[in-house]
Amino acid sequence: MTREHDRQFLGTPAGDAAYREAVERARELALDAANSEKPFSGAEPAAIRDALPEDVLPESGVGLDAALDEVAEDVLAHTVNVSHPRTAAHLHTPPSVPGLAAETLVAATNQSLDSYDQSGAATVVEQRLVESLLDLYDLPESGDGVVTSGGTQSNFQALLLARDRHLAEAFDHDVQKSGLPPAASDLRVLCSAEAHFTTEQSAHHLGLGHDAVVTVDTDENHRMDVDALDAAIDRLEADGKSVFAVVGTAGTTDFGAVDPLDAVAERAAAAGAWFHVDAAFGGALALTEDADRLAGVERADSVSADFHKLFFQPISAGALLLGDAADFAHAARNDDYLNPADSALPNLVSKSTQTTRRFDALKPYLAFRALGRDGLGGLVDAVRQTANRAATLLDAADDFTLLAEPSINTVLFRYDPGALSDDALDELNTATREALFRDGRAVLARTEVGGVEALKLTLMNPRTTLDDVADVLDLVREVGRDIAVDLEAATTT
Ligand SMILES: *Cc1c(COP(=O)(O)O)cnc(C)c1O
Repeated sequence: MTREHDRQFLGTPAGDAAYREAVERARELALDAANSEKPFSGAEPAAIRDALPEDVLPESGVGLDAALDEVAEDVLAHTVNVSHPRTAAHLHTPPSVPGLAAETLVAATNQSLDSYDQSGAATVVEQRLVESLLDLYDLPESGDGVVTSGGTQSNFQALLLARDRHLAEAFDHDVQKSGLPPAASDLRVLCSAEAHFTTEQSAHHLGLGHDAVVTVDTDENHRMDVDALDAAIDRLEADGKSVFAVVGTAGTTDFGAVDPLDAVAERAAAAGAWFHVDAAFGGALALTEDADRLAGVERADSVSADFHKLFFQPISAGALLLGDAADFAHAARNDDYLNPADSALPNLVSKSTQTTRRFDALKPYLAFRALGRDGLGGLVDAVRQTANRAATLLDAADDFTLLAEPSINTVLFRYDPGALSDDALDELNTATREALFRDGRAVLARTEVGGVEALKLTLMNPRTTLDDVADVLDLVREVGRDIAVDLEAATTT
């Protein structure tokens, strides 16, 4: 009587066959999506909504085959093809094949890392992965880490531990037990003006508010200015504030700038502050010959790394690493039902802000083993090289302005066919990007650089060639030309 249910799960001939068939079909659909002619269909959200079935949860289901057909037509056809060589907007990677194979295993084995009795070897693999990352960043052997959903979670947890360690040491105050003391209103965290917004977001979530984040000016290369950092620390201390953390960024979102981590580490140590390195973007430089750009990361109290960026793994997978394993204790949490106090088995739940947690560690683990440092580093070098060549191409073009030399793999530029005011150029660049996205033949990003609207390529696909970049620029010209003509007409009438 439960035969029909068998088909929904693995472990019987009927279920195993249904799985094979469904996954085979899903794989073909995924390949169709990855081989789409354009990066995006250009569909508007309302049109997508209208095409979806009225009843998401009907009384009786349509069956898996029919539901997959629907998804192929109504959903996959209108997703952004991240494997397309002309998709180059964000720090959004095409998923590599080892990562996709691992993802299949992560899903099917469905291990949960909150206790050993739900994960077995998965727990040990995560520990081994963490050890390899401590080694990659030259962090002490006394360090530790945990796999996270990405930089947001890693940055949040880093600042949580920093705050609570500071309040324990400076005020003998236990935040976990008693919440925030009045002194918390004087806590400050320093980061560069170009640090990721999740530092501010974390400060909010930590009950400190955005006002607790003090930004430090950057130099002409968009790196934290160490003199400005010194001045900020002096000023805050004179004002009776407590600098509990300094965040160095290895890879800012737009410029890919890497703060002078060694100098920042020194200032943080002198101020008695926690030193966090947000290496969500630039952490992959450790795989390349330019690993010395990260010098100083080994002095960090904590490091955020993201595998779903320049480690080319499917979303989501990141890690928080600590220089001293003991710091996890500030947020340790456990319950006897998961990890009994008298058990000697490894217990990862107390290191994480999650309970049920995916075996995402398998993705970087498998990629590390399959490709090695050279293989992965070669992929990082490929996108960096494409970015450098794209910059040369833009610099040589009369109708484009290169706004900065690439630091990692982002290229910032402006389309400027001439004869337009600065304001009109802002409008031209914004409108061109939007029109191109609706057109769907290229996906690039926009941002603001030094007060002007800019276009941005984030080259994440190692197979994107300079010809692909040239095609993107031609599309910008094709779509932008008409907009420029309209803008010119508008200003002369
Ligand atoms: C992407 C990124 C984040 C956020 O990480 P998610 O993985 O998106 O949560 C934080 N900091 C930097 C520097 C980033 O590049």
